[in-house]
Amino acid sequence: MATAPVGDDRYGEDPTVNLLEERFATLVGKAAAVYVPSGTMGNQIALRLHGSPGSNVVVGRRQHLMSYESGAAGLNNAFQVYAVDDTGGVLDMSAAAEAVTAGRGGFWPPVSLICLENTHLSSGGLAVGAEEMAAAASLGPPVHLDGARLFNAAVAVETPAADLAGTAATVMSCVSKGLGAPVGSLLAGPADLIAEARLHRRRLGGAMRQAGVIAAGGLYALEHHIDRLADDHARAQRLGDVVADRWPGARLGEAEAACGRPFTNVVAFRHPDALGLLDHLGQAGVRAGLLAPGIVRFVTHLDVNDADIARAVAALASAPDY
Ligand SMILES: *Cc1c(COP(=O)(O)O)cnc(C)c1O
Repeated sequence: MATAPVGDDRYGEDPTVNLLEERFATLVGKAAAVYVPSGTMGNQIALRLHGSPGSNVVVGRRQHLMSYESGAAGLNNAFQVYAVDDTGGVLDMSAAAEAVTAGRGGFWPPVSLICLENTHLSSGGLAVGAEEMAAAASLGPPVHLDGARLFNAAVAVETPAADLAGTAATVMSCVSKGLGAPVGSLLAGPADLIAEARLHRRRLGGAMRQAGVIAAGGLYALEHHIDRLADDHARAQRLGDVVADRWPGARLGEAEAACGRPFTNVVAFRHPDALGLLDHLGQAGVRAGLLAPGIVRFVTHLDVNDADIARAVAALASAPDY
């Protein structure tokens, strides 16, 4: 990062940013990509690209862009969000199909976009395979894939990221989070849409200057930190086993994982005294968070090693019963 060649990315002149955009576009099988400061901005730009005023945008009720972006989808746009169930990691396809059909018939607003998320955070980090990704695209409207953790999914289902994103018009991934870069996400798609995305990025204040310094961290992450995501998944599984042992049935996504949507680097589970448990874990130096009220979440990543997992396992073992 310290030696990255830089230029003014607002004018497309930062060679490191340009290289990161090209590498990412190639990895996800799209013609072009744009570097953005955050995954949220990448999702919000995608909504602006596809979501026409007065239309329905079909989203999963617990997707990040619905539940964890502070209402930005509604605040920034003039479409309606049509939320369908996604408890198991994929959209309720019959509800999504109903919205599309009713839109085509002129009964309901037309559907301008369908949003997917892979891995799907709120189901407990389930990875979804290419066939189930393709099913949503077969409904007709363009698909935006929130692939904040797409490379976790690719590793877990042993499918290239480009195949998972193949039926999506646009795809967003974070090089921060599990991939380990300090900052940044990318949005990829066809060249004309990404040119338009650059305009939206400017409107949202996301066009940066000598961003090559941080983009270099993203390039390193794409080159060195994808394959090792399997280690994070194995460590999460160790935690997940302990949770399943102590509190049978509490872990989110268990049924789906048993049926072929594998877990990745998230362990989420219901606990009647979630705040008390966080406090207990915190005293042992283990930091977990809440996904929602009463739902505890662990995430494993580059900075969590086997010794850390052993400490977390011990802290879980000594947690009070309920
Ligand atoms: C973290 C996350 C985002 C947004 O990323 P930020 O960089 O935190 O804005 C989007 N989608 C999912 C599924 C995420 O987990």
